[in-house]
Amino acid sequence: MADIKRIMVTGGAGFIGSAVVRYILNNTEDQVLNVDKLTYAGNLDSLQSVSQHRNYQFAKADICDRQAVDGLFSEFRPHAVMHLAAESHVDRSIDGPAAFIETNIVGTYTLLEACRAYWQTLSDRDQSDFRFHHISTDEVYGDLDGPESLFVETTPYAPSSPYSASKASSDHLVRAWSRTYGLPAVVTNCSNNYGPYHFPEKLIPHIILNAIHGKPLPVYGDGRQVRDWLYVDDHARALYLVMRKGRVGDTYNIGGHNEKQNIDVVKAICSLLDEMHPESPVVPHENLIRFVKDRPGHDKRYAIDASKMQNELGWAPEETFATGLRKTVQWYLDNRVWWQRVLNGNYQLTRLGEG
Ligand code: NAD
Repeated sequence: MADIKRIMVTGGAGFIGSAVVRYILNNTEDQVLNVDKLTYAGNLDSLQSVSQHRNYQFAKADICDRQAVDGLFSEFRPHAVMHLAAESHVDRSIDGPAAFIETNIVGTYTLLEACRAYWQTLSDRDQSDFRFHHISTDEVYGDLDGPESLFVETTPYAPSSPYSASKASSDHLVRAWSRTYGLPAVVTNCSNNYGPYHFPEKLIPHIILNAIHGKPLPVYGDGRQVRDWLYVDDHARALYLVMRKGRVGDTYNIGGHNEKQNIDVVKAICSLLDEMHPESPVVPHENLIRFVKDRPGHDKRYAIDASKMQNELGWAPEETFATGLRKTVQWYLDNRVWWQRVLNGNYQLTRLGEG
């Protein structure tokens, strides 16, 4: 693989995608083409710090649009694709699964076909150096029975929600394109990410912002669901490593070794805010916790065994949950303009200027 690479990142205006774009531009000489449709989850404000970088380009495009994607492959001529574009919110997939089928399954298929057509035009050497890196979730494995077991790369798929079923389908498509057509692909499945620039509909930013405003803090069911939390910048570093060094045809699980019950996450945010934001309307913030009806099909426990990442690629998360959560709460306290523009909808206006 060439030392300096051209990397097409799909979904680069999203939460994890923007962390990946910032990571590549801040730490390497690689060139990035961010391909994003800018759905409600796409936010170019999250890329403000790198939008003028000499190695950065943005293209507003839908991965379901074959013609547009073909054009981007032939103009940019990437050495690698990091595919993060997706509909990603489980609750939205329950209310309206169609967009999940369209983007996550049909979109991945369309991207794979455009990629294969482009890849076939490359020299033998460039073909074998090429990478298609598909970014997926541990939710494809369903949930875990006992408190001790962990998801490994060979755990059978058993998705529960329309979101996880659509991601499972896309994982299978990528593996099939690798096996059948020889497209050099790697797949990563990760646990719940958290950190700066996270869209406020997700648990951690939702709780932080509601708490700051003295609004109720909703917790599904009894709050005992267990999730493994991964700091987004640790994840971005892991993804770049897999794209560079991962074994073709392989899968890598990426987790943070931070298993927490949802209720404990909410309480940890409350106690950080008691200390860091004592001027909130309601203190202690825990008084705002309200238990609400559980989500249908809600998985009880996810937890990842990330030892393959450690043993083969030497990766380990740098943040513990305590350090990562403190940084995250501090970031939301320091970056009001970012989230105020999300809450009032103005972030979507950035699209006009495209960065
Ligand atoms: P996100 O919802 O924040 O961002 C998704 C991005 O994809 C947005 O910028 C959106 O505009 C773009 N997009 C959506 N449909 C598109 C389309 N048809 N064409 C082009 N762009 C489109 O998601 P995220 O949290 O950053 O997740 C990124 C990837 O990681 C997803 O594939 C998701 O399944 C996976 N993942 C996320 C988590 C997590 O905790 N956030 C955990 C495991 C896996």
